[in-house]
Amino acid sequence: MLPKKTPPPEEPFVPKKGKTPMLVRGMKDILPVDWPWWNLVIDRVISVARDFGFERVETPILEENAMFVRSVGKDTDIVEKEMFAFTDRGGDLVAMRPEGTAGVVRAYLEHGMLAMPQPVKLFYISSMFRYDRPQSGRYRQFWQFGFEVLGDGHPVVDAEIIAIGATIYQELGIPVRVQVNSVGDAASRTAYVKVLTDYFKTRKNRLCEDCKKRLVKNPLRILDCKEQDCQLLAQDAPQFVDHLSEAAKDHFVKVLEHLDDMDVPYDLNPRIVRGLDYYTHTAFEYTVADDIGVEKQQSAIGGGGRYDGLVELFGGRPTPAIGFAGGIERTIMQLKARGIQPSAPGRPDVFLAQLGDTARRKSLKLFRELRKLNIRAAATFSKTSIKAQLEAANRLRAPFTLILGQKELVDGTILIRDMESGIQEIVDFGKAVGEVQKRVLKAANDAQLTNGNGSMPTV
Ligand code: AMP
Repeated sequence: MLPKKTPPPEEPFVPKKGKTPMLVRGMKDILPVDWPWWNLVIDRVISVARDFGFERVETPILEENAMFVRSVGKDTDIVEKEMFAFTDRGGDLVAMRPEGTAGVVRAYLEHGMLAMPQPVKLFYISSMFRYDRPQSGRYRQFWQFGFEVLGDGHPVVDAEIIAIGATIYQELGIPVRVQVNSVGDAASRTAYVKVLTDYFKTRKNRLCEDCKKRLVKNPLRILDCKEQDCQLLAQDAPQFVDHLSEAAKDHFVKVLEHLDDMDVPYDLNPRIVRGLDYYTHTAFEYTVADDIGVEKQQSAIGGGGRYDGLVELFGGRPTPAIGFAGGIERTIMQLKARGIQPSAPGRPDVFLAQLGDTARRKSLKLFRELRKLNIRAAATFSKTSIKAQLEAANRLRAPFTLILGQKELVDGTILIRDMESGIQEIVDFGKAVGEVQKRVLKAANDAQLTNGNGSMPTV
């Protein structure tokens, strides 16, 4: 239990008049213009998750700080430098999640999922928080989609999880290669860390300052240091794969065989060690397979690995598990750099325009009636000019518009305007809904004929 601290005295919030508030450093808004790209990625993630039998989970942003320290590891950059951790008003030390796996494992245990048929397959689309130096493609709040399989240690599950990420990127149009390595089981890890430490100890003066510290605290992290000198040293360092136990080697070979079976392109990469403490066996990253000018540093767009010890570390019985997370912002950067355009949003079935207060109230009712019948009605009720409303209808690509003006109110009619031809028809107000239904049905039939097989048009 962490010592309880006295919360800071409450300070009244006094907004300064006339001063426009600004984004906190490293944060960003996701604006309407951004959403088509976000939806493209999110829709793809949800559809692949469904096909592979995953269910969605969302855990809270705030968790006990101790949970991340235990799982991610106290000697990692995330815990040492990047956590948004603070004492809340009740004196508890909490942290904003820097990654998704720990919270999912906590939820798995807390909600008795260990007693459910295994494996439990979960996915999330959540924002993460890391106090890192902001730069292009690196934020302090960013979004990840993540997949976790708990309760199955079969190597085919490693291949399946790797294939899920590869499928998402490929279907989005981003060519990726998987960089794959094995960090073995606990026994292989202890043996390897010793060999690695001996290797770097004799070359300590060539390491950067950070890596000199890592040598004592977490030597594995030297392997993914970005400094050139450290990278050169890492190239000739002893490799994990040469120090795997027989069982760990056997697991890894099977994973690679299954990746071959599934046609997932991969490179064996001894430098992928994924600095976090909880990884065992398979560790992997997705890198873009071609260079299209997005900064090299950002070329890893996702990564993950097996974490067979984490459930036990959290007090559950030994349970194998594996997962990965992909960064949504970096995925979108790739889409944009490749000129991949999200499809235009679907168009409404009908637009409602009106002139004057009484007509507005009548068309509000009509609007509700149409929506109840699953007809996608659109409107801009606050606009007063017909011209502005027809412009809005055109912008939304509505095929036709119902127009209710003063004259129609008096006559008990409504106008139906075909937006392409501009031809207007007068119908009885009472028959408007039926007429709209008829046209929507006809449009759906026409679309089915054009598509041949009756399927909906795709992106
Ligand atoms: P990690 O958990 O560090 O392996 O991150 C998985 C993925 O999340 C990375 O490959 C990136 O795509 C993304 N990511 C990690 N950190 C950030 C960040 N600070 N800003 C934006 N995306 C990030």
